[in-house]
Amino acid sequence: MVNRVIKSDEEWRRILTEEQFYVMRLKGAERAYTGAYWNHFEDGVYHCAACGLPLFSSERKFASQTGWPSFDGPVNSAHVYTETESVGGKTSTEAICHRCSSHLGHVFNDGPHPSGLRYCINSVALKFERRSTNEPAPVVNQSECLIME
Ligand code: FE
Repeated sequence: MVNRVIKSDEEWRRILTEEQFYVMRLKGAERAYTGAYWNHFEDGVYHCAACGLPLFSSERKFASQTGWPSFDGPVNSAHVYTETESVGGKTSTEAICHRCSSHLGHVFNDGPHPSGLRYCINSVALKFERRSTNEPAPVVNQSECLIME
């Protein structure tokens, strides 16, 4: 279980930068190839920039050539949830932090094998923490990841 973090917009505005607020609370998107992590491949964990929950790890990051950091799944399926909506016949799936309900990006079903998923995430929604050399990599359970129809 993940303890939820619930704050008002006013509180979030105090904690987040203007760009983080725009992306994470107003479901905006940073411009492709402008964020800190689209071309970043160090070993470590990417945490939620708003609440600090570990969301993604370098083990599941891949070079998508889209200009946004891309992962084939979250570090723990209980930490990121998705919401799919259909607008005018077009379906989109949003990726959301389970602890603070911040918008992270979107999920597409054109990702690499075996999950087939591409979590297309805004760099500004993430905070990277490098893994020290004596720290083991997180156990990534492939069967835990969301399978989209
Ligand atoms: Fe969060």
